[in-house]
Amino acid sequence: MKVLLVGSGAREHAMAAAIAQSPLLEKLFIAPGNPGTESLGQNIPIQAEDVPALIKFAQAEKIDLVVPGPEAPLVAGLADLCIQAGILCAGPTQQAAQLEGSKHFTKTICDSAHIPTAQWKQFTNKVDALSYAQTHPLPMVIKADGLAAGKGVIIASTREEALAAISDMMDGKTVGHAGHSIVIEEFLQGEEVSLFAFCDGQSASLIGAAQDHKRIGENDTGPNTGGMGAISPPPFFDHKAQQKALQSVITPMLTEMKRRGIPFRGIIFAGLMLTQNGPKLIEYNTRFGDPEAQTLLIRLKSDLLEALYGVAQGHLPTKLVQFSEDFSACIVLAGRGYPGKPATGSPITGLQEAASLPDVFIFQAATKYNEHNTLIGNGGRVLSVCATAPTLREALKKAYQAIEKIHWQDGIWRQDIGAKAMAHFHS
Ligand code: ATP
Repeated sequence: MKVLLVGSGAREHAMAAAIAQSPLLEKLFIAPGNPGTESLGQNIPIQAEDVPALIKFAQAEKIDLVVPGPEAPLVAGLADLCIQAGILCAGPTQQAAQLEGSKHFTKTICDSAHIPTAQWKQFTNKVDALSYAQTHPLPMVIKADGLAAGKGVIIASTREEALAAISDMMDGKTVGHAGHSIVIEEFLQGEEVSLFAFCDGQSASLIGAAQDHKRIGENDTGPNTGGMGAISPPPFFDHKAQQKALQSVITPMLTEMKRRGIPFRGIIFAGLMLTQNGPKLIEYNTRFGDPEAQTLLIRLKSDLLEALYGVAQGHLPTKLVQFSEDFSACIVLAGRGYPGKPATGSPITGLQEAASLPDVFIFQAATKYNEHNTLIGNGGRVLSVCATAPTLREALKKAYQAIEKIHWQDGIWRQDIGAKAMAHFHS
């Protein structure tokens, strides 16, 4: 099979590594890829958002399967254009990708399909929203309807904060057009986890669960990032609990989407809050998470390509996706200054030595070769240093030991990835 994988992050490097192992693979292209994916296939200089160029390339090369990594090409209609061109694509259409793109759309799906989620109300009128917020219990969660690059959610603990957030969002001051429609919802308390499944339009096959670390600073402080690390599986969310959550938050969504004539084919990522009353949906994303994909894929024993082909064809393989019993950990190394302006251009060495440690996997993101053919940091999140082991403690230890072998003067990372999950073993 000839495969075109779209994206350039560590998630796509991990996906490329898994796809490259498949006996079904004839040739792998990655657009645009990164220095890490070069040894796994052929990097093609087409940006992930350049959907017309991707389609043209796929047609010229007679690609059998397009695999989107990030959300941008999906929002830009990659799957729709693939369908028009008669090419299989393992991702949702623009309409189905509304599950990620519109909070209001997702809430209506939840209500129709009886999916447990925070109680909510949508507003397009500022006066009504402000009046509702006068009496809503605190804290309250205020969300811009559209995509807002992680800035569209405010958890207000005082009435003043809530009213100011509503005004700013609806006046277009904070998130532009995305805030003209907002959702005000109940605050959910609990542990947050991410659940992943392959979906073929009607049924779902569990991939697994992971726990992300969004903030830049230790103890979950400082601004949000794309993700600074992850562990899998969360020790307090076992396989049985994951299967149960799949039945309550993913399967009914697929049934409802099919009923509406917009079947969901792709990888679904359900952000869940494990509340006292069971798992509740916070959000759906219509793709793998980064860094969650890295932790899940290094535990994967099944053929990723076979599963993705099933997703695209609308017939998942009948056998369940197999995972190793091991735990995994991923620590993200970012350029100093991230999530603001990261330092770029300094050399990174020691990757080979680190990657040759047992059960260690290194995935690249914003790296590039300079004119002396030296690998340098070239953006925010630069490396994902991952490891597997029979215990979470060991997996974390191996990943941090691997980082010690890497020399990069501008690299920053959190020292406490997995600490919250480890605390569950002691409680
Ligand atoms: P992302 O940047 O992950 O795509 P987003 O902007 O799409 O996020 P959400 O995922 O809906 O927005 O919310 C962001 C974060 O806010 C969640 O990860 C969670 O920590 C918190 N959050 C959202 N909704 C609630 C809620 N109802 N109760 C408590 N916390 C919430």
